[in-house]
Amino acid sequence: MRVLVGGGTGFVGVALTQLLRSRGHEVTHVSRHPGPDRISWDELSRSGLPPCDAAVNLAGENVLNPLRRWDDAFRRVVVTSRVETTKTLAKAIAEAERPLRAWVLVTGVGYYRPSPTAEYTEESPGGDFDFFSRLVSAWEAAAKIPGDGTRQAVVRSGVVLGKGGGAISQMLWPFRLGLGGPVGSGLQPFPWIHVRDVAGVVCHALETEGVHGVLNGVSPASSGTSNADFARELASALGRPALLPLPGWAVRGVFGSERAVMLLEGQRVAPKRTLESGYCFVYPDLPSALQDIVS
Ligand code: NDP
Repeated sequence: MRVLVGGGTGFVGVALTQLLRSRGHEVTHVSRHPGPDRISWDELSRSGLPPCDAAVNLAGENVLNPLRRWDDAFRRVVVTSRVETTKTLAKAIAEAERPLRAWVLVTGVGYYRPSPTAEYTEESPGGDFDFFSRLVSAWEAAAKIPGDGTRQAVVRSGVVLGKGGGAISQMLWPFRLGLGGPVGSGLQPFPWIHVRDVAGVVCHALETEGVHGVLNGVSPASSGTSNADFARELASALGRPALLPLPGWAVRGVFGSERAVMLLEGQRVAPKRTLESGYCFVYPDLPSALQDIVS
């Protein structure tokens, strides 16, 4: 298949591109920057889809950039980088001469209300209680195209763990120095997935006839993992202690209260439809995922 990937130059996009190419697919990125095997968002708006059989959108400004203040201007960038890019791709797909085989969007488990006890599947309600949940609703709504000529799927991802990017890249150095620990109380659920698996779920959704709708992108062990469990396992994989908690007030100070929710609270999420659709996780448990990352 020829697959067009918006935001394919990023952390998840690099892993997805590698996986798709290793499976014999051709990949073109939609990017803000010129380069080989790329088109720009302007070209996509002006000229429509290049020749392709499937599309994915991974574009989005990094929400947890500690150097950006959580003000209205940054909130707007966080929203438009996701919703407008998704609208642009969806419009091009809807207007294509020939329907694509599949169209996959990656959003987040921020759709579900943080809770230490509730466990969510893809059928659970959400999407209407805070900035992030409403963002996911708007983002997923922007992806909808009329008719059923193109198979449509949404992967709601947890925290993506992998080498060389994502949230863990900022955590590794304090943990390596023995200065790591849980965030806040550490009791909050920690929904996670290895980057190879988020790429794997997207690839599975692209390739597998009959897979459509929402798929939770979290590992099967994720619903039983708390932030403190994660800190302990990461420290153990590095052979270091994990004694120093990062206090909630410090997290709120750096990220602002609204954004700090992403770190200080969490959701227990199960990949029910993902497993039922036949996806086999490469890293179903945290020790194997972390061993791969720190090795
Ligand atoms: P990255 O931060 O690596 O960004 C992905 C790509 O988005 C970048 O390579 C960039 O492509 C494009 N991008 C960044 N900022 C903007 C902007 N302001 N406007 C338009 N495009 C922009 O993301 P990940 O690979 O980590 O995540 C992929 C998707 O999955 C994102 O939408 C993210 O919200 C979602 N997700 C990620 C999680 C994670 O833990 N990583 C967790 C849950 C969801 P270019 O520079 O080529 O234009």
